[in-house]
Amino acid sequence: MSFTVGLTGGIGSGKTTVAGRFAALGAGVVDTDEISRRLTGPGGEAMGPLREAFGARFVAPGGGLDRAAMRALAFEDPGARARLESILHPAIRAEADRALAACRAPYALLVVPLLFETGGYRDRVGRTLAVDCDEALQERRAAARSGLAGREVRAIMSAQWPRWRRLQAADDVVWNGADPGALDAQCARLHRDYVARGALAD
Ligand code: ADP
Repeated sequence: MSFTVGLTGGIGSGKTTVAGRFAALGAGVVDTDEISRRLTGPGGEAMGPLREAFGARFVAPGGGLDRAAMRALAFEDPGARARLESILHPAIRAEADRALAACRAPYALLVVPLLFETGGYRDRVGRTLAVDCDEALQERRAAARSGLAGREVRAIMSAQWPRWRRLQAADDVVWNGADPGALDAQCARLHRDYVARGALAD
């Protein structure tokens, strides 16, 4: 298993974009959102237990999870949210652990949106990296990408740590408040540092 850096950041901050930069530089990327989408997609391993827990109403015609319906239920019903998490979180963690164990890159980047908030992955990572940009920009980017209304993006943001708290907790920060070209030098510098840390940890 490689030295592992936990990458986090608020919705729309640019985690996926930044993880892609590190992957291009040679990092092994394990993205818990991507794992979640796979597990809840058509034929995904979590679909059986989810159908059993919530009923066929939450299964989309293709066989994957009806995300909009599930998101609405989870927002209004804390019990349903807890049941959803009790099915998904252990399955995602097990998949992430498998992917990390198989990683042969100089280091692994584990992308976890709520790395600090939930604490469930803190023991897996040797270092933490926050992707940061101001909150108005986060909202604009997230809304443009997902089609969610500004109000919905703000509701998600309010369940996440505020920017200052994440910045205070993270070992490293990538500032993604400008055009993507501003990421090049920041990612290259951190990549060199992580490769060195990975070599020390071997
Ligand atoms: P996250 O994974 O943190 O939710 P993404 O990396 O998916 O964020 O970025 C959210 C949206 O903003 C995407 O559509 C992405 O292409 C765009 N984006 C990210 N960084 C930048 C940037 N520096 N300039 C312009 N658009 C960006």
